[in-house]
Amino acid sequence: MPGPTQQDVRNTFDRGLPAQTAVDSVIVVGAGLAGLATACELAEQGIAVTVLEADARPGGRTRTLRHPFADDLHAEAGAMTVTRHCHYTMAYLRRMGLDTEPSDLVDTDFRYYRAGRRIRPDKIGDHAEELGLSERERDLSVPGMLADYVAGHNARIGPELTEPNWNPTPRLLELDRISVREILTRRGASPAAIGLMEPMFLEMRGGELESASAMAWARYESGPRSFSTADGGWYKIKDGTDTLARALAGKISERVCYRSPVVRITQDAHGVEATVLDRDRLRTLRADRMVLTAPFPSVRRINLSQAGMSATKHSAIRRLRYASVLRIFLQMRKKFWPEERLMISTDTALCTVRDATPRQPGPRKIIECWLTGWPAQAAAELSPDGRLDFALRELEPILPGARENFELGTSVAWDNEPFTGGAYILPETGHGELMPHLARPEGRIHFAGEHTAFEPNGGSMNYALESAIRVLIEMSST
Ligand SMILES: Cc1cc2nc3c(=O)[nH]c(=O)nc-3n(C[C@H](O)[C@H](O)[C@H](O)COP(=O)(O)OP(=O)(O)OC[C@H]3O[C@@H](n4cnc5c(N)ncnc54)[C@H](O)[C@@H]3O)c2cc1C
Repeated sequence: MPGPTQQDVRNTFDRGLPAQTAVDSVIVVGAGLAGLATACELAEQGIAVTVLEADARPGGRTRTLRHPFADDLHAEAGAMTVTRHCHYTMAYLRRMGLDTEPSDLVDTDFRYYRAGRRIRPDKIGDHAEELGLSERERDLSVPGMLADYVAGHNARIGPELTEPNWNPTPRLLELDRISVREILTRRGASPAAIGLMEPMFLEMRGGELESASAMAWARYESGPRSFSTADGGWYKIKDGTDTLARALAGKISERVCYRSPVVRITQDAHGVEATVLDRDRLRTLRADRMVLTAPFPSVRRINLSQAGMSATKHSAIRRLRYASVLRIFLQMRKKFWPEERLMISTDTALCTVRDATPRQPGPRKIIECWLTGWPAQAAAELSPDGRLDFALRELEPILPGARENFELGTSVAWDNEPFTGGAYILPETGHGELMPHLARPEGRIHFAGEHTAFEPNGGSMNYALESAIRVLIEMSST
């Protein structure tokens, strides 16, 4: 039986979830947002649900760092932005009584740092030659480039690009064979123009235009959530993104087993089993169904030899790529830069440098270096102290005084997080082939999590939550 469509999921969520009549017990693997939402909804219906979480805390890739900073400063290592189009995130925030406030990512004093100098975005034309812009790009602003190379061309692809229900037509799958860099180059953009537009492609946060699918990118850039199409309604969760996961986990605290990594999954005609490493012992739990929300790099480490999964699922688990992101946070004793809302896109290995605490009170500030792609992979090889040294050395020419004002710091290399293995899915060329196999249930095992989203670029809290609702509908009808 075909699963629910994206619109079915939305309608069912808004009207009320179906009763689970065929299921008494469920094991949920992972206490990220997908796992927690699934478990809360099941618990509310009286289903015996057990959440197995490898880490010692809930939230997964929603992770607010409150340590080791002074003065109650905090920074987000994972998710930090929500827009009013994030239907599910907004709904769960309301249910949990949590507030939002304006995001720090909009209305910034955005600057480029290219070949050792700061350039205001509205002064690009004055530096056209040294930047290497083509003749026709010299009179274009960055929004002008986006309107031409991105929005204008995308609008001509066809109405299916913006259909509410994702439907990969042959025309879209054609785009899935080429990369973002290739499509922009075919449209006439120079490497310099692509470099200036790249920071605006937020879904390209993995920094790999060469391997990212033009199909997934074009879909995202044509939707209401992209930076260039957003209507200003960008928010963050007040008091930290992790408050949402903590609120959900608080509702089912007696059902969540922390420090319980699942190491083996099996199923037979009557049930499904998860074996966990419980300190130095193996423990096996059995249930009617399982909802597996762990990201695929982590699933690769679970023994699935008797999990009864298809060859195509095994292949999808092996092949799905995740973006490399490394975030380095440097506590500074004071704000020693003139901008109120510092945000610099650099052509150095630090990629993006920003004030991560523009609205937090007190003289101290946290400067964040947001590394993506190969620089993130390289710096992930360094020790924690080595990363701080590396960042300070690279930062000094960009932000003179950095070393002198530095007090302490920390970093999160998402590639090295043992139960994530990457930041968010990176839909590469050929992603269209993988998509049908990511979410499809395998016997008694259902798959949720951002990577199972209907959208090709589903790496967000909203789609993690949507996947939970999709699984609940799936489970009620099989
Ligand atoms: C740097 C970064 C920035 C982001 N920015 C945004 C943003 O601004 N806005 C936005 O909406 N989204 C953003 N996201 C994406 C968002 O955080 C994720 O899409 C979402 O939180 C994923 O939720 P999930 O439940 O699918 O997965 P996760 O949060 O990864 O949860 C999976 C859970 O499974 C656990 N697990 C894994 N393996 C096992 C195992 N073997 N046994 C038991 N447990 C296991 C993990 O520990 C984890 O807790 C960002 C993510 C990152 C990393």
